[in-house]
Order: sequence, then structure tokens, then C-alpha cells
Amino acid sequence: MKSKHRKIRKLWYAVILVLIASICICLGILFAVNQKKKNTAAAISTPTASATAVPSVSAVPSASPSEEPSEAPSEEPAEDTAETAPAEVPAAESASSLSSEFTDTSSLLILANKKNRLPEGYVPADLVDAGIPCTNGSALMRSPAAAALQQMYNAAAADGVSLAISSAYRSESYQSSLYYNYVSMYGEAGADTISSRPGYSDHQTGLAADFVEGGDADFNESFENTASGKWLASHAHLYGFIMRYPQGKDGITGYNYEPWHFRYVGTDNASAIYSAGADETFEEYYQVPGGDYAS
Ligand SMILES: [Zn+2]
Repeated sequence: MKSKHRKIRKLWYAVILVLIASICICLGILFAVNQKKKNTAAAISTPTASATAVPSVSAVPSASPSEEPSEAPSEEPAEDTAETAPAEVPAAESASSLSSEFTDTSSLLILANKKNRLPEGYVPADLVDAGIPCTNGSALMRSPAAAALQQMYNAAAADGVSLAISSAYRSESYQSSLYYNYVSMYGEAGADTISSRPGYSDHQTGLAADFVEGGDADFNESFENTASGKWLASHAHLYGFIMRYPQGKDGITGYNYEPWHFRYVGTDNASAIYSAGADETFEEYYQVPGGDYAS
């Protein structure tokens, strides 16, 4: 009987051990589950935390993407407008909006060519006689040009060259009679090749003069070989004059080679243009429209 009791006791112990073990396992499982819940709760709360942080974090990336697109598109159109703007500005300039230094009648750079008409009936206010030999009446020029011409005349004389001019300032009405006389003889197209239309002549600025020697070379390309022609070509810029219509530049100036026609622009401007090349034109140097008449 004692052994039976022992067996029963052992069984009880075993059952109790199993119970304790199962309780422990259950507690362990519960603990583990609880931990998992806590973890997922923490995981959910950290995502929300990182979610609130994410926007701020993604605000940084989204700030840089939003900067890039906002910069890139705003740059691209800016470049587009920057690309089209310069193309429009010269076009606008070539139309009528030349810088005032080329349109202001007091400017020594006032432009008279086939693309830019002088103001209707323009007469320079400071015309004076240059006081040098002139074969065609008066040698009227604007006063700064007249003073420079006198200096140039004296300098050439010192070098043994006797300068003389045929005409300097021409009024619009005089140019008109000249031009329409040519039109009656050669037609408009023919007249345009040898004479300026009224209002378009460099001579009307009071800053231009035609030099002559009284021989066959007058108003001829061979004037470049005369004493006056040679001296002027290499010295005129020192006194503020440029050869207005150099050889081979008729497409730019609108006129054939005229080695006798000089235009006063001031010594600084003349030296700068001459330094750019002996055949540099006013139109090239100042990048102003030139060539033939628009119509
Ligand atoms: Zn001339």
C-alpha cells in the first residue's frame, strides 16, 4: 500500500510540476505577447512620430525638389526670355529705338545713314565756317568739327599737304534738290547709288566734309592715291575724323568706297574706331543698323 501511495504522490508531484510548468509557459507566452503589443504600439507610435518627422524630413527633400522644379522651370523660362529678349532688343533697336547718343542732335555720334533718317528739317544750331579752302561756297560745319578741321588743315600743311574741301554741311532742301536732280536723270534706283535721299545725308549732320584736290581724282576712288587722300587716311583720326565709307563695306554703310568723305566723331571715338581697323565702319564699331534703305 505504501508503494501505491508513493506512486500517487509521485503522480501528484508530476501533475503539479506540469501545471507549474504550463503556468510558467503561459505566463511566458503572455509576457511575450504583451511585449509584442508594446513593441507594435511603440512601432505605431514611432511611425507616427517618424511620420510627423517624416513630413519635416520629407519637407526637406520636398523642399529641395520643390526648389529644383521651382528653380528649374523659373530658370528655364528666364533663360528663354533671356534668349528671346536680346534677340528682340536689337530688333527693336534696328526699328527705331537707337540709343540716344546716335539720335540726339547734340551728340557727335548722331547717325545719318540709309536706315536712320535725321529729324525732319534738322539744322545744326552751331554751324560755323571752318575757314579752310572750299571749292563749293561755304565750309559750314558744327563748331567742334570746324575747330578740329582747322587743326587738321594746319597739321597737314606742316607736312606739306594742302587740304581743301568741296562741301561740308548740306541742308535738307539742298540735298533734296541734289537727289531729285539725280532721280530725274537716272531714276530712283540710280540716284540712290550716288546720292542720299533728303534727311539721310551724313552732310546734313554738319559733321562731314568731302576733300578734293582739284583734279581727276576728285570724287573718285583714285583719291586714295593723292597726297591728301594718303595723308587723311593715316592722320584724320588724330583730329577726330573717320573715313565714313571704307572700301568693301558698302553692304554695311550703304555707300560705295569714298576715300574723300570724312566724318567728325571726336578724337576719342575716332581713335577707338581707327584702332579697331583702318577700314572699320561706324556701323560695325557701334553695332548700329546700316546698309540699304528699308524700302
Ligand atoms: Zn560726302
